Amino acid sequence: MKLNISPIALLCGAALLGGCASTADNASANNQPAVSALQLAQQTIIIDTHIDVPYRLHKDWEDVTQATQRGEFDYPRAQAGGLNAPFMSIYIPASYERSGGGYQLANQLIDSMEALVARAPDKFAMAYSTQDVIEQFGSAKVSLALGMENGTPIAGKLENLQHFYDRGIRYITLSHSESNHIADSSYDLRRRWNGLSPFGKELVVAMNNIGMMIDISHVSDDAFYQAVALSKVPVIASHSSLRSYTPGFERNMDDDMLKALAKNGGVVQINFGSSFVTQMANQYGALRKAAAKQAGVADDAAFELEFRKKNPYPFATLDTVLDHIDHVVKLVGIDYVGIGSDYDGVGDSLPVGLKDVASYPNLVDGLLKRGYSAVDIEKILSGNFLRVWREVEQYAAKHAAG
Ligand SMILES: [Zn+2]
Repeated sequence: MKLNISPIALLCGAALLGGCASTADNASANNQPAVSALQLAQQTIIIDTHIDVPYRLHKDWEDVTQATQRGEFDYPRAQAGGLNAPFMSIYIPASYERSGGGYQLANQLIDSMEALVARAPDKFAMAYSTQDVIEQFGSAKVSLALGMENGTPIAGKLENLQHFYDRGIRYITLSHSESNHIADSSYDLRRRWNGLSPFGKELVVAMNNIGMMIDISHVSDDAFYQAVALSKVPVIASHSSLRSYTPGFERNMDDDMLKALAKNGGVVQINFGSSFVTQMANQYGALRKAAAKQAGVADDAAFELEFRKKNPYPFATLDTVLDHIDHVVKLVGIDYVGIGSDYDGVGDSLPVGLKDVASYPNLVDGLLKRGYSAVDIEKILSGNFLRVWREVEQYAAKHAAG
């Protein structure tokens, strides 16, 4: 992208295609979900496979058993949105691979989720299995499942895989923003392993055997293909969107990968973040960095605030997220797509109409308007993911039985 045009002209010019914040805000104000959508959201199990509450609370604690001022998740909003089972992200920043301490941080974040349940047992319960999610559905409790984002805490030891399984972790995102001892990262141009490391290959087999889902969000394309080829069970992308809408962004999945994922029986859980779903938002960060460089200042929080004032962030809309779901359905069918919002993980970049965990009825409303049946919507909200999780559980049970 050329930078001799002012960023604002670039961003809001392209908004003629349907992305500018002010237009979209007006549209959403008039778009309350239909009663049928509200009902369906309440009557259907909703699993969102990536919500960054643990790290959010670690950095900036609030009481999420009550309505909160900040963030995108709390109990009242989860109830309003019909959310039943969020996967709480046990997120370990990539720097821990170098500094150490990932094992400790992971345990600390898991402790914090257990403490939440202990403090409000009428509102939250841990969920360690598909059965837990199903049994707790219909109660007033939000089931908290755990996924580990970044395999750094495994620290090259299979006994740590057992430890974190025992603590309730049910998926591991093999790497995060930098290549680690397990797998290369899509964001990291150093390709240490050209895919999975020798230990990473061992780990994939061990994860199958123990019943830990393999999450290929964040990894490089080579690591994805190697994981899919090695895994005896379907894999998940816990929070990824589609590269056809964000050309060149390896963090998202391209059509060939979607086909390979479907063949494997896996599921892509669509990330809602604007920078994951539109090219304009995807390139906003690069424009800001370039502007900071041009001005000779640091690209820090203060600069970001200033930059945003002059160049309104090009928020995506609910419709864009629906387009991603449609694309998967058209390409490979209804059985391979779900939702992994990345709430509490993508800052102020969420699409208009999908701002927090109270928003799932809007998504359901959009799906109904696009002609999806209640059966199809149930697959997207949880059915497809539960199918994969159940297959992973069954494979491990068979393995344990010898
Ligand atoms: Zn992530």
